[in-house]
Amino acid sequence: MAYIDRQTENGQNFFLPKLAAASLGLNDGEAYVLLETLAQSGVLRRVFNVYCGPSGELLTTVHSEDELNEVPHCDECDRDHDLRDLRLELAFELAPEDDRIRKAA
Ligand SMILES: [Zn+2]
Repeated sequence: MAYIDRQTENGQNFFLPKLAAASLGLNDGEAYVLLETLAQSGVLRRVFNVYCGPSGELLTTVHSEDELNEVPHCDECDRDHDLRDLRLELAFELAPEDDRIRKAA
């Protein structure tokens, strides 16, 4: 939790298992389990950062796999990529406050 607070204070809204691991001295798997536990308790939620494969540009962040059908037009390549041109990165973000209150209740 201290880690989450610190990241948030730094204006960091995304939590990546790899970075959390480095920061906390855990391996990637342990960091993932920790973030996943926080997601299940409603503090964080899972998201996918969607990058353009060719340019590496962040195109959007989605909250479910359904939304992958609505990835915005890529300005870097000036085209609409299909899924195999995209790179997905699992991340966690702070859950909306409403969700946190609801799950805590
Ligand atoms: Zn592109």
